Amino acid sequence: MSARTIAIIGGGPAGATTAEKLAQGWGLGSHGGSANRVVVFEEKLGWEKPCGGGLSHKVLRKYPFLAEAAGGAKLLHDAEFIAATGAAMRFRLRSPLAIYSRATLNHLLLRRAEDAGAEVVADRIVALRRGDSGWELDGRGRTYRADFVVLAGGARSRLRQVLTEDFAARDFMLTFGYYLPVPCELLRVRFYEKFEGYAWAFPRPDHVSVGIGAKMSEGTMPELRARLGMFMQKSGYPPDPERIYSHLLPSLSVESWGKLRLAGQGWALAGDAGGLVDPVTGEGIYYAMRSGELLAETLLEDLPQAYPERVRNDFGRSLALGARLGRMFYHGEFLGGGVTTRMIEFGTHSRKLLEVMQDLIEGSQSYLGLFARLQMGMARTLLETGLGRVRKALLSGILTGVSRQ
Ligand SMILES: Cc1cc2nc3c(=O)[nH]c(=O)nc-3n(C[C@H](O)[C@H](O)[C@H](O)COP(=O)(O)OP(=O)(O)OC[C@H]3O[C@@H](n4cnc5c(N)ncnc54)[C@H](O)[C@@H]3O)c2cc1C
Repeated sequence: MSARTIAIIGGGPAGATTAEKLAQGWGLGSHGGSANRVVVFEEKLGWEKPCGGGLSHKVLRKYPFLAEAAGGAKLLHDAEFIAATGAAMRFRLRSPLAIYSRATLNHLLLRRAEDAGAEVVADRIVALRRGDSGWELDGRGRTYRADFVVLAGGARSRLRQVLTEDFAARDFMLTFGYYLPVPCELLRVRFYEKFEGYAWAFPRPDHVSVGIGAKMSEGTMPELRARLGMFMQKSGYPPDPERIYSHLLPSLSVESWGKLRLAGQGWALAGDAGGLVDPVTGEGIYYAMRSGELLAETLLEDLPQAYPERVRNDFGRSLALGARLGRMFYHGEFLGGGVTTRMIEFGTHSRKLLEVMQDLIEGSQSYLGLFARLQMGMARTLLETGLGRVRKALLSGILTGVSRQ
């Protein structure tokens, strides 16, 4: 087969991982590698992309170099979940969570792609069209040619429209937050009732990323700011108007998962550009990297048409189920209270529920069994605490009876 050029638009986790795995597979970093080329176009090399930067244990297990990158991330061992009622539950994580500054993470991933033999070009691709022989990509000052295009340009990429149908407004979460230069060792997540989203505080090596994210339908930006303001006030984080961030986060609806098109003739979408984000938690770095890896594998096999099916089998089906269950998680009720409120209230009394929360943060709990585990855990706690009370009442009755005799 003749030499091919793969153009990757976007050098975030999805684009950089696709490039690294492709270049590795073709041996581009070594003499005698193939004549193929892998070119990453990135307009803001290694920037601080608005993000929490949290990497669960699932990511660190799959990509161990992320846990080993000395000084790159903060490893957190303790977390606190706060319910809408203010009830809080602090717990130790079984395995630490790594929180990266996105500038550090993006630099690291792009360097790995370059070391593997990919070319990184600092340019913004402003237009994309099919030419007589493959694709033509317009940069800011010149036009590039490619045989295959990977769009890994993130959630806001307008180039999606050239390739496939664009996402609807309901397929996004709004986010807003601050980078605060305050010391912090505790990961905090604050839930609300009847609100599909949450606020967070993710400590990084030299600052904290404090933010809030919610489905577009859940409120306006000023409402999000007000909710975040309350959380920050209660947690003792001073707002800093100088270091604000805001960005869109894909959160595909059930319908959009059903009709998602991840590849076509000579193109594919990876990461946020393909909507590949957990619709309940907003976790996207793992799925960006994993989709890049799966795409690279199919390109190396010269089978890119198999990529959508591999994504579906690997994690797509689970995320689509998340889209179905997300509303139940955030809007559902159990015993007259919100699911998240009850999960936290009952979690302080139940080891089983604590394990569910640890698994959620570790990324080892799929949506398939989540609700069954939550309901079982809550019912069991209710039974145990209820039985505990009955036992106490009986005992005190017996003792009162004994003392009367
Ligand atoms: C507020 C917020 C908090 C989040 N917190 C977490 C978290 O804690 N953990 C987690 O796992 N996920 C989190 N996410 C999601 C995560 O940030 C994304 O899922 C992840 O960055 C997706 O990676 P990507 O490579 O697909 O896209 P991106 O990281 O967005 O990278 C796309 C890249 O493409 C470049 N680009 C775009 N268009 C062009 C163009 N035309 N030409 C050249 N370059 C271009 C951009 O500069 C960018 O660098 C969060 C998201 C938000 C918004």
